[in-house]
Amino acid sequence: MHPYEPGKPLETLERELGIRGAVKLASNENPRGPGEAVRAALAHGAADLSRYPDGSAFRFRERLAALQGVHPDQILLGNGSNDVLELIARVFLAPGTTGVIDQHAFVVYPLAIAGAGGQVRAVPSVAYGHDLPAMAAAVDDTTRLMFIANPNNPTGTVASLQEIETLLEAVPSDVLVVVDEAYCEYHHEAPATTALSLLDRFPNLVVTRTFSKIYGLAALRLGYAVAAPELVSLLNRLRQPFNVNSLALAGGLAALDDVAYVAESRRLNAEGLAALEAAMRARGVPYIPSAGNFLTIEVGAAGAYYDALLREGVIVRPVAGYGLGAHLRVSVGLAEEMARFLESFDRVHGRLAA
Ligand SMILES: *Cc1c(COP(=O)(O)O)cnc(C)c1O
Repeated sequence: MHPYEPGKPLETLERELGIRGAVKLASNENPRGPGEAVRAALAHGAADLSRYPDGSAFRFRERLAALQGVHPDQILLGNGSNDVLELIARVFLAPGTTGVIDQHAFVVYPLAIAGAGGQVRAVPSVAYGHDLPAMAAAVDDTTRLMFIANPNNPTGTVASLQEIETLLEAVPSDVLVVVDEAYCEYHHEAPATTALSLLDRFPNLVVTRTFSKIYGLAALRLGYAVAAPELVSLLNRLRQPFNVNSLALAGGLAALDDVAYVAESRRLNAEGLAALEAAMRARGVPYIPSAGNFLTIEVGAAGAYYDALLREGVIVRPVAGYGLGAHLRVSVGLAEEMARFLESFDRVHGRLAA
């Protein structure tokens, strides 16, 4: 196993280069930072750090359940959705079992599967997207679960609700289908595309969400799963009792009700993504059309581009570890960050593409 390689932190690059004002477009964070309501809730929560958090997250789950139209017993919280994904793997996998994923899947999935002693079965993509019928066909007696990111990271591809439903109909009911919707709020048809509406019909469906992306709270570490109560109950047995901290609960609760923040973030992202796509088209740089808050572009010598951009003070994400050695993933930042990226990209591209 190879450790997960996060996007390079700003502070690290600035220290290494002895510069200030570097730009990070490497981890699909919301560039706006949290809204006013969240900041106020965090300041308030900071006054009470000596007590353990509410391990049942009663208030948070009540509110979230009401918003999503499910029962609080259907919600399991995690220290980021990574925590939830790992917990699912630990509860349902063991040596001798397999987990099915896509060829270009989020790297946390193979890590979680292998970490639980399971075997990874990676299914070839079609046009960089999940081949859901082939994933269903890859299920055998040893298969306990499959992970599907929708939209997918790092390809930005998306499967329709109809396609997810067809998959669920094809997969045996004792195989978990985990639909990771970390970017679903960015989809232009959201929330119509979420698999939450299928939970009633498929007790083997788990939908995961995060506060790290459109909600702008990556540092707080808050994510959750929605599933049948029986399934949540199984997961709760291995969940650490205080896996989600008080500040995450307070900030998350405030974020849930800040509908305007999410709407504005979605609008700004759509604008920034369209501008980035147009800029790549104008330069003749191929890219994979994206339903997320990032664009994966095909530059060829991705490692050389990455290094040269770093020296310009611009951090993007190499995706060779996702089987995409010729590509780089660029998160949609603020307008001034994107201008800075394009300036640097042009210098680097002018040199390397020649
Ligand atoms: C960013 C991301 C997540 C979120 O992880 P957290 O642990 O909630 O920060 C989950 N799934 C995918 C595919 C992602 O890209």
